[in-house]
Amino acid sequence: MAKVKGTGDFYGFNPGEKLVLKFIKTKKYNSGVRITEKDVAAQKLAQQYAKAFNEKHRPVRGKEPLDLFFRIGTLISSSKDQLDGTVRKILEDELMMVEIPIYGEFKKFNSNTGWSSGEGNLPGAFSRWTWVESNGKHLICDLQGHRGLPGGIKTTDGSSNYYAFSDPAVLSKVSGSYGPADLGEEGQKTWFSHHVCNDFCKSLGLEGKVSYNSVINACAQTGYVERAEMWLGRMLEAGVQANEVSYNSVINACAQKGRVSRAEMWLEKMLAAGVKTDAFSYNSVINACAQRRDIERAETWLEKMLSEGIQADEVSYSSVIKACVQKGELDLAGYWLERMAAAGLQANEVTYNTVAGACLAAGDKDRLERWRKLMRLEENTVLKDPPLLKPSRPSSCTTKSLDDVDQDILSDALPKRVEETRRRRPATESRKKEDGGAAVRKHRPTQVSVDRSNTWMWARLLIMLVVLQLILAVWSDYAVQSAKS
Ligand SMILES: [Zn+2]
Repeated sequence: MAKVKGTGDFYGFNPGEKLVLKFIKTKKYNSGVRITEKDVAAQKLAQQYAKAFNEKHRPVRGKEPLDLFFRIGTLISSSKDQLDGTVRKILEDELMMVEIPIYGEFKKFNSNTGWSSGEGNLPGAFSRWTWVESNGKHLICDLQGHRGLPGGIKTTDGSSNYYAFSDPAVLSKVSGSYGPADLGEEGQKTWFSHHVCNDFCKSLGLEGKVSYNSVINACAQTGYVERAEMWLGRMLEAGVQANEVSYNSVINACAQKGRVSRAEMWLEKMLAAGVKTDAFSYNSVINACAQRRDIERAETWLEKMLSEGIQADEVSYSSVIKACVQKGELDLAGYWLERMAAAGLQANEVTYNTVAGACLAAGDKDRLERWRKLMRLEENTVLKDPPLLKPSRPSSCTTKSLDDVDQDILSDALPKRVEETRRRRPATESRKKEDGGAAVRKHRPTQVSVDRSNTWMWARLLIMLVVLQLILAVWSDYAVQSAKS
């Protein structure tokens, strides 16, 4: 009925009467899964590594040698369609696999995503070893089969100490090279993010041989922060030089998870070790502090960054500014906007919207206008020339009047503006009452048109927002109704 294509290697056991025929279940078949040469290639490759491992490391259990080996199947194809009623069972020329069965209790020891049953040290250590041995080219995993124990089923050599595996997965450089279970390099990363070295790994000295950075990076990227930290710790303990990639991965991972103190600690360690820091190192920490609205800490790190001669970018400043705004520290936000402008950086739209929203909420149109100019979102900016000097930080921003602070901020570089601020001050009360009207116009006649256009701009924006919300409300109602129907 079936024709045999090639011969299988039934290592470890004599071919008996009993054989296992493997073919794809119809549901999986319909989703496109097939048995191919790649499955046999994976088995052969795994067995090559197993053989090399047994010879090189001669694992033992007690004093007895402990071998591991893989079943290698043979591909055969059906000579005709075999149906179960009208449903496919096997189609003509469809490939199947013939194998000697695994005798004894069948267990799964680890998966192709790094899960481990925790039974026996050898499977996990072997998987890891294949990766180290191949320099990252292959990772043999998804180890399942029978763990031969004293008193149990023996091999043809009479040994009770062995692992007989079948259907391994190979994670190679390019996913799919060894069939659908081959999740490629990404799969390797995931596997390592779950793998914890056991005593066997350690006795093989595998820890020192791995690329720490790739493991740290894998853990960090998959959100396993503690594990990323653990690996960086081990790397340092082992005396392996950690570089900016090692530290930045961990710092960023900690920061992303909101573990500010941990992120800070690693940045401090990085600095202490004399490892070159960059904007990324600091921005992660600054952003984490800012997310917690811990302005002081965010500021401290930004100042530290600048004092270390690291070029702070838009992200560095924007994080701090956003935190200031969210905490209602508008003066401080203004101060950092100044610093940002002085550094020649332009705020992006998000930052602009954040500060503009705060000004709008506070009904502070003047401030908005100043900030708009500061952020160079207008052609006719008062800050174009000359460049600003470093402004002094408002010491206690909330207790100072806005005008005083503005005077601090705008001193030196903007004498004209300061003068205007001074002149305006007596009119503060009336200006508030008149909603940015006459008092301002009286002292600054040239600004009338700008004020009016700003008012219109905000009015239009508000109308647009209301309309948008109405549309959204109607749409979501409609969506709910159509979902119900
Ligand atoms: Zn390990």
